[in-house]
Amino acid sequence: MTWLPLGDDDPFDAWTLPYGVFSVAGASPRVGVAVGSWVLDLTPLAGAELFDHPTLNPFLAAGRPVWDAVRARLLELVTDPRHRDLVEPHLVPAADVRLGLPFDVADYVDFYASQTHAENVGRLFRPDNPALPAAWRQLPIGYHGRAGTVVVSGTPVVRPSGLRRAGDAVEFGPSLRLDIEAEAGFVVGTPSALGSRVPVGAFEDHVFGMVLVNDWSARDIQAFEYVPLGPFLGKSFATSASPWVVPLAALAHARVAPPLRSPAVAPYLRDAEPWGLDVSFSVSWNGTVVSRPPLRSLYWTPAQMLAHMTVNGASVRTGDLYASGTVSGVRPDCGSFLELTWNGTEPVTLADGSTRAFLEDGDTVTIRATAPGPDGSRQRLGAVTGTVHPSP
Ligand code: CA
Repeated sequence: MTWLPLGDDDPFDAWTLPYGVFSVAGASPRVGVAVGSWVLDLTPLAGAELFDHPTLNPFLAAGRPVWDAVRARLLELVTDPRHRDLVEPHLVPAADVRLGLPFDVADYVDFYASQTHAENVGRLFRPDNPALPAAWRQLPIGYHGRAGTVVVSGTPVVRPSGLRRAGDAVEFGPSLRLDIEAEAGFVVGTPSALGSRVPVGAFEDHVFGMVLVNDWSARDIQAFEYVPLGPFLGKSFATSASPWVVPLAALAHARVAPPLRSPAVAPYLRDAEPWGLDVSFSVSWNGTVVSRPPLRSLYWTPAQMLAHMTVNGASVRTGDLYASGTVSGVRPDCGSFLELTWNGTEPVTLADGSTRAFLEDGDTVTIRATAPGPDGSRQRLGAVTGTVHPSP
Protein backbone atom coordinates (compact mmCIF):
# COMPACT_ATOMS: atom_id res chain seq x y z
CA MET A 1 0.00 0.00 0.00
CA THR A 2 2.79 2.44 0.82
CA TRP A 3 6.43 2.86 -0.09
CA LEU A 4 7.14 4.13 3.43
CA PRO A 5 8.88 1.53 5.60
CA LEU A 6 6.15 1.23 8.23
CA GLY A 7 6.39 -1.12 11.20
CA ASP A 8 3.63 -2.88 13.11
CA ASP A 9 4.38 -0.77 16.16
CA ASP A 10 4.18 2.57 14.36
CA PRO A 11 1.46 4.78 15.81
CA PHE A 12 -0.19 5.44 12.44
CA ASP A 13 -0.54 3.61 9.13
CA ALA A 14 -0.61 5.20 5.67
CA TRP A 15 -4.41 5.43 5.60
CA THR A 16 -5.46 7.36 8.72
CA LEU A 17 -3.35 10.46 7.91
CA PRO A 18 -4.50 12.58 10.87
CA TYR A 19 -3.76 16.31 10.99
CA GLY A 20 -2.00 18.17 13.78
CA VAL A 21 0.15 21.16 14.58
CA PHE A 22 3.84 20.48 15.16
CA SER A 23 7.03 22.42 15.72
CA VAL A 24 10.67 21.48 15.61
CA ALA A 25 13.32 23.33 17.60
CA GLY A 26 13.46 26.98 16.65
CA ALA A 27 10.71 26.91 14.04
CA SER A 28 7.18 28.26 14.34
CA PRO A 29 4.36 25.71 14.62
CA ARG A 30 2.59 24.60 11.47
CA VAL A 31 0.31 21.88 10.17
CA GLY A 32 1.50 18.34 9.52
CA VAL A 33 0.09 14.89 8.97
CA ALA A 34 1.15 11.83 10.96
CA VAL A 35 2.25 8.76 9.02
CA GLY A 36 4.23 5.88 10.48
CA SER A 37 6.58 7.40 13.03
CA TRP A 38 6.96 10.65 11.08
CA VAL A 39 5.21 13.95 10.69
CA LEU A 40 4.80 15.03 7.10
CA ASP A 41 5.29 18.78 6.78
CA LEU A 42 2.39 20.02 4.63
CA THR A 43 3.54 23.57 3.95
CA PRO A 44 6.12 22.67 1.25
CA LEU A 45 3.91 19.91 -0.17
CA ALA A 46 0.42 21.39 -0.10
CA GLY A 47 0.85 25.14 0.33
CA ALA A 48 1.53 27.80 2.94
CA GLU A 49 -1.89 29.41 2.59
CA LEU A 50 -3.71 26.59 4.34
CA PHE A 51 -0.93 24.97 6.33
CA ASP A 52 1.71 27.47 7.45
CA HIS A 53 -0.30 28.34 10.57
CA PRO A 54 -0.09 27.37 14.24
CA THR A 55 -3.64 25.98 13.97
CA LEU A 56 -5.75 23.83 11.68
CA ASN A 57 -8.52 26.45 11.57
CA PRO A 58 -7.78 27.89 8.07
CA PHE A 59 -7.84 24.36 6.65
CA LEU A 60 -10.96 23.47 8.66
CA ALA A 61 -12.72 26.56 7.28
CA ALA A 62 -11.83 25.62 3.69
CA GLY A 63 -14.63 23.04 3.57
CA ARG A 64 -15.30 19.52 2.40
CA PRO A 65 -14.13 19.79 -1.25
CA VAL A 66 -10.72 21.06 -0.08
CA TRP A 67 -10.47 18.45 2.70
CA ASP A 68 -11.21 15.71 0.19
CA ALA A 69 -8.80 17.02 -2.43
CA VAL A 70 -5.92 17.35 0.05
CA ARG A 71 -6.54 13.86 1.44
CA ALA A 72 -6.66 12.37 -2.06
CA ARG A 73 -3.33 14.05 -2.87
CA LEU A 74 -1.75 12.83 0.39
CA LEU A 75 -2.88 9.26 -0.22
CA GLU A 76 -1.30 9.47 -3.66
CA LEU A 77 1.94 10.85 -2.23
CA VAL A 78 2.35 8.10 0.36
CA THR A 79 1.28 5.19 -1.84
CA ASP A 80 2.83 5.89 -5.25
CA PRO A 81 6.61 5.25 -5.09
CA ARG A 82 7.17 7.83 -7.85
CA HIS A 83 6.61 10.53 -5.21
CA ARG A 84 9.27 9.22 -2.85
CA ASP A 85 11.89 11.84 -3.75
CA LEU A 86 9.35 14.62 -3.40
CA VAL A 87 8.03 13.48 -0.03
CA GLU A 88 11.06 12.13 1.81
CA PRO A 89 12.75 15.49 2.55
CA HIS A 90 9.59 16.63 4.34
CA LEU A 91 9.24 13.69 6.72
CA VAL A 92 10.19 14.79 10.22
CA PRO A 93 10.80 12.08 12.85
CA ALA A 94 7.89 12.23 15.29
CA ALA A 95 10.37 11.99 18.16
CA ASP A 96 11.79 15.40 17.17
CA VAL A 97 8.56 17.39 17.19
CA ARG A 98 6.51 19.16 19.78
CA LEU A 99 2.75 18.87 19.26
CA GLY A 100 0.32 21.67 20.04
CA LEU A 101 -3.44 21.90 20.43
CA PRO A 102 -4.41 21.17 16.82
CA PHE A 103 -7.14 23.81 16.45
CA ASP A 104 -8.42 26.92 18.18
CA VAL A 105 -11.43 25.65 20.06
CA ALA A 106 -14.39 27.94 19.39
CA ASP A 107 -17.23 26.53 21.48
CA TYR A 108 -17.19 23.30 23.43
CA VAL A 109 -20.30 21.19 23.93
CA ASP A 110 -20.42 17.96 25.92
CA PHE A 111 -23.16 15.41 25.26
CA TYR A 112 -24.40 12.43 27.29
CA ALA A 113 -25.05 9.98 24.47
CA SER A 114 -24.10 6.62 26.00
CA GLN A 115 -27.15 4.89 27.41
CA THR A 116 -25.12 2.63 29.67
CA HIS A 117 -23.24 5.61 31.09
CA ALA A 118 -26.44 7.61 31.66
CA GLU A 119 -28.08 4.63 33.38
CA ASN A 120 -25.04 3.94 35.57
CA VAL A 121 -24.84 7.59 36.68
CA GLY A 122 -28.60 7.59 37.31
CA ARG A 123 -28.34 4.49 39.51
CA LEU A 124 -25.38 5.89 41.45
CA PHE A 125 -26.67 9.44 42.01
CA ARG A 126 -30.46 9.15 41.84
CA PRO A 127 -31.22 5.62 43.08
CA ASP A 128 -34.84 6.48 43.90
CA ASN A 129 -35.65 7.67 40.38
CA PRO A 130 -35.71 6.05 36.92
CA ALA A 131 -32.10 5.52 35.76
CA LEU A 132 -32.61 7.51 32.53
CA PRO A 133 -33.79 11.14 32.70
CA ALA A 134 -37.25 11.64 31.14
CA ALA A 135 -35.98 13.41 28.01
CA TRP A 136 -33.03 11.10 27.41
CA ARG A 137 -34.56 9.03 24.58
CA GLN A 138 -36.19 12.10 22.98
CA LEU A 139 -33.08 14.20 22.42
CA PRO A 140 -29.31 14.03 22.87
CA ILE A 141 -28.82 15.69 26.27
CA GLY A 142 -25.82 18.02 26.47
CA TYR A 143 -24.45 21.20 28.02
CA HIS A 144 -22.15 24.01 26.93
CA GLY A 145 -18.68 23.57 28.36
CA ARG A 146 -15.56 25.72 28.62
CA ALA A 147 -13.60 26.03 25.36
CA GLY A 148 -10.67 27.90 26.93
CA THR A 149 -9.62 24.97 29.09
CA VAL A 150 -9.46 22.38 26.32
CA VAL A 151 -5.78 21.42 26.37
CA VAL A 152 -3.58 19.24 24.23
CA SER A 153 -2.67 15.74 25.32
CA GLY A 154 0.27 15.75 27.73
CA THR A 155 -0.70 18.98 29.48
CA PRO A 156 -0.52 18.45 33.27
CA VAL A 157 -3.92 18.25 34.96
CA VAL A 158 -3.86 20.13 38.23
CA ARG A 159 -6.18 18.68 40.86
CA PRO A 160 -9.01 21.21 41.27
CA SER A 161 -10.33 22.47 44.58
CA GLY A 162 -13.89 23.35 45.38
CA LEU A 163 -16.81 22.93 47.75
CA ARG A 164 -17.86 19.40 48.54
CA ARG A 165 -19.93 17.55 51.06
CA ALA A 166 -18.26 16.01 54.12
CA GLY A 167 -20.97 14.17 56.02
CA ASP A 168 -23.49 16.80 57.05
CA ALA A 169 -20.98 19.62 56.56
CA VAL A 170 -19.66 21.37 53.47
CA GLU A 171 -15.94 21.93 53.15
CA PHE A 172 -13.55 23.49 50.65
CA GLY A 173 -10.52 21.58 49.46
CA PRO A 174 -8.84 19.57 46.73
CA SER A 175 -11.17 17.13 44.99
CA LEU A 176 -11.05 13.65 46.56
CA ARG A 177 -12.90 12.05 43.64
CA LEU A 178 -10.99 13.07 40.56
CA ASP A 179 -12.08 11.06 37.54
CA ILE A 180 -11.78 10.74 33.78
CA GLU A 181 -14.31 10.62 30.96
CA ALA A 182 -13.28 8.77 27.79
CA GLU A 183 -15.06 10.42 24.87
CA ALA A 184 -14.97 11.02 21.15
CA GLY A 185 -14.83 14.70 20.13
CA PHE A 186 -16.11 15.99 16.81
CA VAL A 187 -14.46 19.00 15.18
CA VAL A 188 -16.53 21.47 13.15
CA GLY A 189 -14.92 22.85 10.00
CA THR A 190 -17.58 24.63 7.98
CA PRO A 191 -19.62 27.13 10.02
CA SER A 192 -23.40 27.56 9.88
CA ALA A 193 -25.39 30.80 9.86
CA LEU A 194 -27.18 32.11 12.94
CA GLY A 195 -30.87 31.30 12.59
CA SER A 196 -30.31 28.29 10.33
CA ARG A 197 -30.28 24.58 11.17
CA VAL A 198 -27.78 21.91 10.22
CA PRO A 199 -29.92 18.91 9.20
CA VAL A 200 -28.66 15.40 10.02
CA GLY A 201 -27.94 14.87 6.32
CA ALA A 202 -25.52 17.84 6.24
CA PHE A 203 -23.23 16.46 8.95
CA GLU A 204 -20.39 15.61 6.57
CA ASP A 205 -20.46 19.10 5.04
CA HIS A 206 -19.73 20.63 8.45
CA VAL A 207 -17.74 18.18 10.54
CA PHE A 208 -14.11 17.60 9.60
CA GLY A 209 -13.02 14.87 11.95
CA MET A 210 -12.61 13.32 15.35
CA VAL A 211 -10.28 13.65 18.31
CA LEU A 212 -9.97 11.53 21.44
CA VAL A 213 -11.08 13.41 24.53
CA ASN A 214 -10.55 12.98 28.26
CA ASP A 215 -13.07 15.22 29.97
CA TRP A 216 -11.54 15.23 33.48
CA SER A 217 -14.22 15.44 36.17
CA ALA A 218 -14.20 16.12 39.91
CA ARG A 219 -17.13 14.01 41.07
CA ASP A 220 -17.39 15.47 44.58
CA ILE A 221 -17.41 19.08 43.31
CA GLN A 222 -19.83 18.08 40.54
CA ALA A 223 -22.23 16.29 42.91
CA PHE A 224 -22.52 19.31 45.21
CA GLU A 225 -22.95 22.00 42.54
CA TYR A 226 -24.90 20.44 39.68
CA VAL A 227 -28.55 20.94 40.68
CA PRO A 228 -30.36 22.49 38.82
CA LEU A 229 -28.11 23.87 36.05
CA GLY A 230 -25.70 20.99 35.50
CA PRO A 231 -21.91 20.67 35.76
CA PHE A 232 -19.88 23.84 36.30
CA LEU A 233 -16.53 23.83 38.16
CA GLY A 234 -16.48 20.04 38.46
CA LYS A 235 -15.77 19.77 34.73
CA SER A 236 -14.35 23.09 33.54
CA PHE A 237 -10.79 22.87 34.88
CA ALA A 238 -9.38 20.71 32.04
CA THR A 239 -10.51 18.75 29.00
CA SER A 240 -7.67 17.00 27.17
CA ALA A 241 -7.78 16.40 23.41
CA SER A 242 -5.51 14.26 21.26
CA PRO A 243 -2.99 16.22 19.15
CA TRP A 244 -4.09 14.42 15.97
CA VAL A 245 -7.46 15.04 14.30
CA VAL A 246 -8.60 11.99 12.34
CA PRO A 247 -10.56 13.06 9.25
CA LEU A 248 -14.05 11.56 8.88
CA ALA A 249 -12.94 10.17 5.53
CA ALA A 250 -10.44 7.92 7.31
CA LEU A 251 -13.30 6.43 9.34
CA ALA A 252 -15.34 5.34 6.30
CA HIS A 253 -14.82 1.66 7.13
CA ALA A 254 -15.83 2.15 10.76
CA ARG A 255 -19.43 3.15 10.13
CA VAL A 256 -22.02 1.00 11.88
CA ALA A 257 -25.77 1.18 12.43
CA PRO A 258 -26.65 2.74 15.79
CA PRO A 259 -28.73 0.80 18.33
CA LEU A 260 -32.47 0.66 17.68
CA ARG A 261 -34.10 3.89 18.86
CA SER A 262 -37.36 3.52 20.72
CA PRO A 263 -39.60 5.49 20.87
CA ALA A 264 -39.15 6.99 17.39
CA VAL A 265 -37.25 10.26 17.41
CA ALA A 266 -38.52 13.68 16.27
CA PRO A 267 -38.35 14.36 12.50
CA TYR A 268 -35.34 16.69 12.84
CA LEU A 269 -33.34 13.81 14.37
CA ARG A 270 -34.31 11.23 11.74
CA ASP A 271 -31.73 10.08 9.26
CA ALA A 272 -32.38 7.83 6.27
CA GLU A 273 -29.21 5.86 6.93
CA PRO A 274 -27.98 6.69 10.42
CA TRP A 275 -24.48 5.64 11.36
CA GLY A 276 -22.28 5.58 14.38
CA LEU A 277 -18.61 4.66 14.56
CA ASP A 278 -17.09 1.31 15.48
CA VAL A 279 -14.21 2.82 17.43
CA SER A 280 -12.72 0.77 20.26
CA PHE A 281 -11.17 2.74 23.11
CA SER A 282 -8.73 1.47 25.68
CA VAL A 283 -8.17 3.26 28.96
CA SER A 284 -4.85 2.73 30.65
CA TRP A 285 -4.26 3.78 34.27
CA ASN A 286 -0.55 4.04 35.07
CA GLY A 287 0.07 1.58 32.25
CA THR A 288 -2.60 -0.98 33.19
CA VAL A 289 -5.48 -1.26 30.71
CA VAL A 290 -8.56 -1.10 32.93
CA SER A 291 -11.35 -0.81 30.36
CA ARG A 292 -12.20 -0.94 26.65
CA PRO A 293 -15.24 1.27 26.03
CA PRO A 294 -17.01 0.71 22.67
CA LEU A 295 -18.02 3.90 20.82
CA ARG A 296 -20.39 1.87 18.61
CA SER A 297 -22.75 1.50 21.59
CA LEU A 298 -23.69 5.23 21.54
CA TYR A 299 -27.45 5.71 21.30
CA TRP A 300 -27.16 9.04 19.48
CA THR A 301 -25.07 9.55 16.35
CA PRO A 302 -22.67 12.46 15.80
CA ALA A 303 -25.00 13.75 13.05
CA GLN A 304 -27.93 13.80 15.47
CA MET A 305 -25.87 15.67 18.05
CA LEU A 306 -25.04 18.40 15.50
CA ALA A 307 -28.64 18.59 14.27
CA HIS A 308 -29.84 18.93 17.85
CA MET A 309 -27.25 21.59 18.71
CA THR A 310 -28.48 23.79 15.86
CA VAL A 311 -32.24 23.02 15.73
CA ASN A 312 -32.99 26.22 17.67
CA GLY A 313 -31.02 28.31 15.15
CA ALA A 314 -27.78 28.38 17.15
CA SER A 315 -24.85 28.63 14.76
CA VAL A 316 -21.66 26.58 14.79
CA ARG A 317 -18.22 28.01 14.11
CA THR A 318 -14.99 26.68 12.68
CA GLY A 319 -13.19 25.02 15.57
CA ASP A 320 -16.31 24.08 17.55
CA LEU A 321 -15.73 20.88 19.46
CA TYR A 322 -18.55 18.68 20.63
CA ALA A 323 -17.90 15.54 22.59
CA SER A 324 -19.99 12.38 22.81
CA GLY A 325 -20.09 12.20 26.57
CA THR A 326 -18.54 9.33 28.49
CA VAL A 327 -18.53 6.16 26.43
CA SER A 328 -19.45 3.14 28.52
CA GLY A 329 -20.18 -0.45 27.63
CA VAL A 330 -20.95 -3.25 30.05
CA ARG A 331 -18.78 -3.04 33.18
CA PRO A 332 -15.81 -3.06 33.40
CA ASP A 333 -15.66 -1.43 29.95
CA CYS A 334 -16.61 1.99 31.28
CA GLY A 335 -15.27 5.38 30.25
CA SER A 336 -15.24 6.71 33.82
CA PHE A 337 -13.73 5.41 37.04
CA LEU A 338 -16.95 6.41 38.81
CA GLU A 339 -18.63 3.54 36.99
CA LEU A 340 -15.62 1.22 36.84
CA THR A 341 -15.19 1.27 40.64
CA TRP A 342 -18.93 1.78 41.31
CA ASN A 343 -18.42 5.08 43.08
CA GLY A 344 -15.26 3.83 44.74
CA THR A 345 -16.86 0.76 46.35
CA GLU A 346 -15.09 -1.73 44.05
CA PRO A 347 -11.48 -0.52 43.63
CA VAL A 348 -9.37 -1.77 40.74
CA THR A 349 -5.92 -3.31 41.12
CA LEU A 350 -3.16 -1.99 38.85
CA ALA A 351 -0.19 -3.94 37.52
CA ASP A 352 2.06 -2.71 40.36
CA GLY A 353 -0.33 -4.24 42.90
CA SER A 354 -1.70 -0.90 44.09
CA THR A 355 -5.44 -0.30 44.17
CA ARG A 356 -7.40 2.71 43.03
CA ALA A 357 -10.93 4.09 43.40
CA PHE A 358 -10.27 7.58 41.98
CA LEU A 359 -7.17 9.37 40.68
CA GLU A 360 -4.18 10.00 42.93
CA ASP A 361 -1.56 12.69 42.40
CA GLY A 362 1.03 11.48 39.89
CA ASP A 363 -1.37 9.09 38.16
CA THR A 364 -1.30 9.03 34.37
CA VAL A 365 -4.27 8.08 32.22
CA THR A 366 -3.90 7.37 28.52
CA ILE A 367 -6.85 6.76 26.22
CA ARG A 368 -6.12 5.10 22.90
CA ALA A 369 -8.44 3.99 20.11
CA THR A 370 -8.53 1.77 17.06
CA ALA A 371 -11.06 1.39 14.26
CA PRO A 372 -11.57 -0.76 11.17
CA GLY A 373 -9.58 0.46 8.18
CA PRO A 374 -9.56 -0.61 4.52
CA ASP A 375 -9.17 -4.27 3.52
CA GLY A 376 -9.84 -5.65 6.98
CA SER A 377 -7.04 -3.64 8.57
CA ARG A 378 -7.20 -2.09 12.01
CA GLN A 379 -6.06 1.54 12.23
CA ARG A 380 -4.80 3.32 15.32
CA LEU A 381 -6.35 6.72 16.03
CA GLY A 382 -3.68 8.14 18.34
CA ALA A 383 -3.88 8.79 22.06
CA VAL A 384 -4.76 11.39 24.64
CA THR A 385 -2.82 11.35 27.88
CA GLY A 386 -2.51 13.38 31.04
CA THR A 387 -0.88 13.20 34.47
CA VAL A 388 -2.47 14.49 37.66
CA HIS A 389 -0.48 17.18 39.47
CA PRO A 390 -1.18 18.06 43.11
CA SER A 391 -3.44 20.91 44.05
CA PRO A 392 -1.28 24.04 44.54
CA1 CA B 1 -18.07 14.74 29.60
